[in-house]
Amino acid sequence: MINTAAGLLVPFHRASIGEDEILAVSEVLRSGWLTMGARTEEFERQFAKYVGAQHAVALSSCTAALHLALEAIGIGPGDEVLLPTTTFTATAASVIYLGGRPVLVDIDPSTMNLDPEDAARRVTPRTGAILPVHMSGQPCDLAAIHTLAAEHGLRVIEDAAHALPASYRGQFVGAVSEFTAFSFYATKTLTTGEGGMVTTSNAAAAERMRMMRLHGIARDAWKRYSAQGSWRYEVMEAGHKYNFTDLQAAIGLVQLKKCNAMQEARQRVAQRYFAGLEQIDEVELPVIRSDRKSSWHLFLLRLHLEKLEIGRDEFIEELQQRGIGSSVHFIPLHLHPFYQREFGYRPGDFPKAEAEYRRCISLPIFPTMQAEEIEQVILALTDIVQRRAKRHRTKRYASR
Ligand SMILES: *Cc1c(COP(=O)(O)O)cnc(C)c1O
Repeated sequence: MINTAAGLLVPFHRASIGEDEILAVSEVLRSGWLTMGARTEEFERQFAKYVGAQHAVALSSCTAALHLALEAIGIGPGDEVLLPTTTFTATAASVIYLGGRPVLVDIDPSTMNLDPEDAARRVTPRTGAILPVHMSGQPCDLAAIHTLAAEHGLRVIEDAAHALPASYRGQFVGAVSEFTAFSFYATKTLTTGEGGMVTTSNAAAAERMRMMRLHGIARDAWKRYSAQGSWRYEVMEAGHKYNFTDLQAAIGLVQLKKCNAMQEARQRVAQRYFAGLEQIDEVELPVIRSDRKSSWHLFLLRLHLEKLEIGRDEFIEELQQRGIGSSVHFIPLHLHPFYQREFGYRPGDFPKAEAEYRRCISLPIFPTMQAEEIEQVILALTDIVQRRAKRHRTKRYASR
């Protein structure tokens, strides 16, 4: 039976939570150990192994992961960090927490990822890091980003909130750069309700992040309430409350086992969309680069507005009227009041990002999507285009 969440025929997203996750959480509740502990350590070990990273530190969110990675490399007041304007606000906010300045970069319209050439033009002596975002789960041009970073001595922190599992030239995202931040938020490809992970090749930074995630208390602070623990602890820094919990780890361990299967299921949805939408001139399908593999977190469609009587917003309303959930990723940061007020950005600053923003729609894509649900989306899109395409009006006039 189709889940009619929010009264929709096809919701934008449905989490893939099964009895195994429920059972795993019950076990933790019965164990009596509710916060960070042995299960979190096990999840970190398995996650690191899965993506091929040297160290993995579990945190309360991807936002916390970005913040602690930037803190670990010493980003501070006045330092600049390059990041795409087409992203979620958390990417830039993590820089601002440390007094740094997010320097926005325009995108490559084909993939909607950060354009390395535009990034190069914005490097200054104050630039400390580059923070690429893998939009929809398709990795950025990491070779170009690493070349740029090497030329200017920049550190690389990937925002991989969309990119689990994804790979670049045969390597998993999470094993390529010095730091990679993942999200386990409710709608992401692996969920623990809320949560995040940072993987790193830098052992000292991993240790620092472990300390900073739990009050700045010297390593293994959580063990003070375990059998081997002692009441004595030392505070080394004004740390954060960014730790993960064993309740989340229990869900994460089950989800990690299903991670490949869930990716394959989303890829099958994408393939059906390609087959079903290929013939429609008014829409543009995602560009797939042959040297990388997407997680297919999002299916990012672009409208050919010049061929339609309606704009993107109306298109979304028409989908909604037909019971189809959809979304927009993302409203570019420079169009938000905060980034304009604080950093002086203005509409028109990033023409490519704005043009893509005006015409992009994210369609439902999730592992439990049924064949009939995919058909409903394709039928709805086909119907909207048939009614709202400019060519049909012309045709109708012509046949009168
Ligand atoms: C979801 C998301 C984040 C934030 O993840 P949280 O785990 O909710 O902090 C950061 N960046 C991007 C691109 C995201 O989509």
